[in-house]
Amino acid sequence: KPVIAIVGRPNVGKSTIFNRIVGERISIVEDVPGVTRDRIYSSAEWLTHDFNIIDTGGIEIGDEPFLEQIRQQAEIAMDEADVIVFMTNGREGVTAADEEVAKILYKTKKPVVLAVNKIDNPDMREMIYDFYALGFGEPFPISGSHGLGLGDLLDEAAKHFPKEEDIGYGDEVIKFSLIGRPNVGKSSLVNTFLGQDRVIVSDVAGTTRDAIDTPYHYDEQDYVIIDTAGMRKKGKVYESTEKYSVLRALRAIERSDVVLIVLNAEEGIQEQDKKIAGYAHEAGKAVIIVVNKWDTIEKDDKTMKRFTDDIRENFLFLDYAPIIFVSANTKQRVHQILPIINRVSENHAMRIQSSILNEVIEDAVVRNPAPSDKGKRLRVYYTTQAAIKPPTFIVFVNEPELMHFSYERFIENRIRETFDFEGTPIRLITRART
Ligand code: GDP
Repeated sequence: KPVIAIVGRPNVGKSTIFNRIVGERISIVEDVPGVTRDRIYSSAEWLTHDFNIIDTGGIEIGDEPFLEQIRQQAEIAMDEADVIVFMTNGREGVTAADEEVAKILYKTKKPVVLAVNKIDNPDMREMIYDFYALGFGEPFPISGSHGLGLGDLLDEAAKHFPKEEDIGYGDEVIKFSLIGRPNVGKSSLVNTFLGQDRVIVSDVAGTTRDAIDTPYHYDEQDYVIIDTAGMRKKGKVYESTEKYSVLRALRAIERSDVVLIVLNAEEGIQEQDKKIAGYAHEAGKAVIIVVNKWDTIEKDDKTMKRFTDDIRENFLFLDYAPIIFVSANTKQRVHQILPIINRVSENHAMRIQSSILNEVIEDAVVRNPAPSDKGKRLRVYYTTQAAIKPPTFIVFVNEPELMHFSYERFIENRIRETFDFEGTPIRLITRART
């Protein structure tokens, strides 16, 4: 999906506009327990446009001086976006800080659309003329508080979205990413697989932005390692601000089929790991948990079990994810990673024949009928698989309100016990039969 980033000095109204464009979506996502999406990044739709949007103003850059913060936020926008929306405040006119932002944005080759906020009624339109001087063409008047002008602004931004054919890889290619906090060993792991079999490696410019993905071919299978550049790019802005590294990770997850959550055996599980894992789950990606630096800890015959229990306890929702203990340094078990990726990626795209599926579910329902609720009982009529990646099942019933979480879980477990869905989330949707 194309990405729009909003930049501008503080108090021009960036987050108001962000929230308007994103609408209800963020709060819906936050209703899922254990899963929060950062308030600075969201997918959004506007008429026919479907995109992701970043509020760079929400990325705190330590305690750097004011101008340095704005500068770094603008640089993040230049790195991450397909289109940059440069926001200013019409009531205050062009300020020195706006000019600073402009100066940085002159360096980008990305399209920049200039928005002048707080133009709440048509009489105020003449206030926008000063903004031509910033050098980004026609200023678009908008009003965050009244929601005016956003349509025109987004139409303009959408004109610069990359063409469909520039985006994406073939369906036969397995796209995976390694996600984890700085220094858990993501790049070392990538280097171990890339190094080991004299594979063809070439860094190609990523889909639409500076992000670099690495294509990789092994044993007749094509892979793309998503956002290898993000893993290799070390430095202040990339690593020291948690929000930015989370955002970068979310973007990589979204573009992947399989997500490897990389943990560091020395440090155990941290909050940020859980947050990111939650996102991978919610996004419906296949997930593998990789515990790296296994060489660094002292082990006895219970260490692996203890780690496994700890992971299961902390990532309750990821009970389907395989766990592997590796060392990038000694290469212990690193060769098992690709076969696991193949396996979970196959499960992620698996289709179950309707007749077999219904046999399994009918049998489960007969043996364990749904409990009755206020004198009514859930009846399950028919189940069908509506999608893959992740496998998504629609369960047709008499009254969807009678389907409780625990019964849904029971059906999911029956499906999992019968078919091999290791590594992939599965989704159940309950519908009334019409
Ligand atoms: P990234 O930030 O997650 O990409 O982490 P790096 O791959 O840059 O690794 C961070 C540091 O950990 C480097 O000094 C690596 O040499 C070291 N490292 C990575 N994997 C292992 C491992 O399996 N064992 C040990 N002992 N050190 C490792």
